[in-house]
Amino acid sequence: MRSGRLLLLAFIAALVAVYFSFDLGQYLSLDYFKTQQAAIESYRASHPWQTALLFFLVYVAVTGLSLPGAALMTLVGGAIFGLLWGTLIISFASTIGATLAFLAARFLLRDGVQRKFGDRLGAINAGVAKDGPFYLFTLRLVPIFPFFVINLVMGLTPLRASTFYWVSQIGMLPATLVYVNAGREIGRIDSLSGILSPGLLLSFVLLGIFPLIAKKAVDLVKARRVYARWPRPKRFDRNLVVIGAGSAGLVSAYIAAAVKAKVTLIERHRMGGDCLNTGCVPSKALIRTTRFLADVKRAGSLGVRAASAEFDFGAVMERVQRVVRTVEPHDSVERYTGLGVDVVIGEARVTSPWTVEITTEEGMRVLSTRAIVIATGGRPAIPGIPGIEEVGYVTSDTVWALRTLPRRLLVLGGGPIGCELAQCFARLGAQVTQVQRGPQLLCKEDPEIAALVMQRLRAEGIDLRTEHTPLHFERDGDAWTLVCEHAGGQVRIGFDQLLVAIGRTANVSGFGLEALGIGVRKDGTVDTNEYLETIYPNIYAAGDVAGPYQFTHTASHQAWYAAVNALFGRFRRFKVDYSVIPWCTFTDPEVARVGLNEQDAKARGIAYEVTTYGLDDLDRAIADEAAHGLVKVLTVPGKDRILGVTIVGEHAGELITEFIVAMRHGLGLNKILGTIHIYPTLSEAGKYAAGAWKRAHAPQRLLEWVGRYHAWRRG
Ligand SMILES: Cc1cc2nc3c(=O)[nH]c(=O)nc-3n(C[C@H](O)[C@H](O)[C@H](O)COP(=O)(O)OP(=O)(O)OC[C@H]3O[C@@H](n4cnc5c(N)ncnc54)[C@H](O)[C@@H]3O)c2cc1C
Repeated sequence: MRSGRLLLLAFIAALVAVYFSFDLGQYLSLDYFKTQQAAIESYRASHPWQTALLFFLVYVAVTGLSLPGAALMTLVGGAIFGLLWGTLIISFASTIGATLAFLAARFLLRDGVQRKFGDRLGAINAGVAKDGPFYLFTLRLVPIFPFFVINLVMGLTPLRASTFYWVSQIGMLPATLVYVNAGREIGRIDSLSGILSPGLLLSFVLLGIFPLIAKKAVDLVKARRVYARWPRPKRFDRNLVVIGAGSAGLVSAYIAAAVKAKVTLIERHRMGGDCLNTGCVPSKALIRTTRFLADVKRAGSLGVRAASAEFDFGAVMERVQRVVRTVEPHDSVERYTGLGVDVVIGEARVTSPWTVEITTEEGMRVLSTRAIVIATGGRPAIPGIPGIEEVGYVTSDTVWALRTLPRRLLVLGGGPIGCELAQCFARLGAQVTQVQRGPQLLCKEDPEIAALVMQRLRAEGIDLRTEHTPLHFERDGDAWTLVCEHAGGQVRIGFDQLLVAIGRTANVSGFGLEALGIGVRKDGTVDTNEYLETIYPNIYAAGDVAGPYQFTHTASHQAWYAAVNALFGRFRRFKVDYSVIPWCTFTDPEVARVGLNEQDAKARGIAYEVTTYGLDDLDRAIADEAAHGLVKVLTVPGKDRILGVTIVGEHAGELITEFIVAMRHGLGLNKILGTIHIYPTLSEAGKYAAGAWKRAHAPQRLLEWVGRYHAWRRG
């Protein structure tokens, strides 16, 4: 492939060199043609086909090699062949030449450009994939954009070659006609610049933007059509109705109230949603207790001869609930009512694009509203493994009700929730087996990152079973057995309590979306565009129900876009920005990430360099007996621009913030290196990672000369 590229490059370079070194451009001038016109025409009269073929080939070569002269040749074509044949020959020659230039740019440059700038080109690629033919058509019709530039630039995009060909052929036709027609009177033309009068240019511009305007109009009509079967209220009770009072719903309602919109927030269960009641808050409270127990266990490593902790599992779980109750007021009905939100506890159902029916204990009511934000969240996914319903499993929704520690706990699933809970229960003293289909836990992370977590979980006594596929459950007296397929055989795993943590499913059904025809993606989340609009431009989705992320901070991030677009979209709409998304798995060690890791970069064909810094080298980590883990930074080759960072270690979720800020505001590793970090802190790890990058990119040649300079100074 590489040698093919070099060969093509050499071939093109040779042809271009021939063109310039023999000054072939002199033959592509108006004056030269006029001197030769009579001779050419007489040759054409005696050899019509040969003349046409020769002209065709030269035209293809000039446009294919992006040489100057295509406009002049079009005029000449008109002069020699007349309007019909001239247009026909030139239309095909110019399109074939343009497509050759397009293909050459694609073959020679596209991979490199996409690899180097792929992380930034995402939006352009998506735009071209969606509307590329329209853009190209516009550019072709407006002959003020040099065609050779369009050919080369389009070659770098994902536009299909066949689409490029036919759009170019049609799009270039009007300008070809004008030039060929003008060429018939070539004797009266003194320069190329006068051929397109301002009036003609304007007509081309209008013709060029017409398809874009037409497309926008069609989109508008389509958007209006989805509303056609729904009667539109004359007046609206609310500016916004938000369904679900989890992270996404609360923030949407908060923003609406803050900008003085009339907003109703509907919650059918508990204010705060998953994060407060069954997710982030209880899990982090449990992690705090179990981290203390782990510290007690490793007292010896801190120089303490013996330490022990006595605890009651029920009391630990009660503390978790106490923490939830302490945080609860932040998300309470009282607080939000005080902020100006009309909070209703009840079940919501969308009955039309502008109406929401609410069933409460008091009865049913219907609210009309200008816009709706769907923030109904998700729920634990339950696999269809035979026998699972008889087992009586717990999930992240129900595990918090346990008051007796299971003796043998089976955790199904190796994602963040499964890992956090498996480690907690192991540290509380349960005998934990964790079953994962794939070869590693935390499958979104790079293998060596997941390996660090797996190593720790194993060291803490968790029986990790990767590449185990559950087949069915069997009763075993009072206990249960999971039968798995592993390495071609069957493996039996006994347990007393099953915890299912295989992922979460978006809540999309049972509240009216089906009747409205609002679609669902393959992953089960509500289908929205980049503005978070569903097929109804006044119905938005945010949070776990919208995907693609399932975090509290991404739910709130999306909520801003959903609420602002819903309330002010008629003035300006904002595309949701996923460019710098961080997250953390709160196992011990924590795994925090922002941006790309190696898996992502490879999958997206983005070139990268890796710099790692091991925390075993960091003074504070050594002092804290936390000298394990690493900082792994991906950068653009040869540059300090950060593509992504993964940190494994204690407080990784806090340490990553420096890199989140850097990526968000375009600061490179040099800036991190140039910032004073307090000694001795764990945060120095970021600076040392930047230092490792700097050392690897030190200007060796220059340093050799500097060394010679110092030697000379010593005499
Ligand atoms: C164990 C666990 C640990 C987690 N840890 C973290 C973490 O550390 N960090 C992090 O960022 N994320 C974490 N998450 C994920 C986080 O909890 C979710 O991403 C977040 O809660 C999503 O918020 P949401 O508003 O989209 O949905 P939810 O919080 O699920 O809220 C949706 C709400 O809508 C209500 N609802 C649904 N249908 C209707 C209806 N028809 N009418 C009225 N109300 C309705 C539901 O009752 C619910 O209250 C964790 C999740 C779990 C399960």
